[in-house]
Amino acid sequence: MLDAYDLVILDLDGVVIVGEQALPAAAAAVATVRQEGTPVVFATNNASRSASAVAELLTKVGVPAEPSEVITSAMVAADALADSVPAGAAVLVLGSDALASEVRRVGLRPVSSAEDQPAAVIQGYDPSVGWERLAEASVAIRAGARWVVTNSDATLPSPRGPLPGNGSLVAALRTALEREPDMVVGKPQPALFAAAARQRSASAPLVVGDRLDTDIAGAYRAGMDSLLVLTGIASRADALAAPAEQRPHYLGDDLGALTRPGVQLARD
Ligand SMILES: [Mg+2]
Repeated sequence: MLDAYDLVILDLDGVVIVGEQALPAAAAAVATVRQEGTPVVFATNNASRSASAVAELLTKVGVPAEPSEVITSAMVAADALADSVPAGAAVLVLGSDALASEVRRVGLRPVSSAEDQPAAVIQGYDPSVGWERLAEASVAIRAGARWVVTNSDATLPSPRGPLPGNGSLVAALRTALEREPDMVVGKPQPALFAAAARQRSASAPLVVGDRLDTDIAGAYRAGMDSLLVLTGIASRADALAAPAEQRPHYLGDDLGALTRPGVQLARD
């Protein structure tokens, strides 16, 4: 399957790891992909961890990774923000320290109060966000700050089942403000995958994911081929019933599918 591609972009949860454990076939498959000379990028919608923290987690569970191989919605959102507000502008960070670091990396100034007159609000998943910070963001947005959201996943997986994700906190502000965010960056928007391909100068990337409505839909919008693995959310039946814009090119039981001849799905 790898012969046709010059980059493999891997979703994390349900593809390489589940919670804080590696999926059984993941380590061997990633090692084989690298041995064959194809680079990999790990692409995640979760904006709460830095690239270094993600690489550390992957390495700890037996899938060695470098920070430069990780791309997060926080990184791409900060880059997009830098293109739309003046250099050095104040940005209210409604999210984790990792998100604030990304804001700093692109030459913007993280703040936590609407009184600092931020040019933008950037919102990403952080389990410590509560009413006070949501209220502060709503004041800033009403005063004209641009509202950029790292991702809109309503839930995130956990060993206790789905828990409220960034999309659920975005929904609280959408309700309060009676408006939509100015920009949503994560999958199924194509920005994350496009940034990964650009970073590696790849012309034929393959996206691997476990969700049709984010990973596969995002690949379709980015104009990339995709492999759906059945170790996460979507089932075989889901794949077969998917609308055209969520239909993967290949289907595999697990990440080991990357190292075998592909089972290509009919596209029409
Ligand atoms: Mg996933």
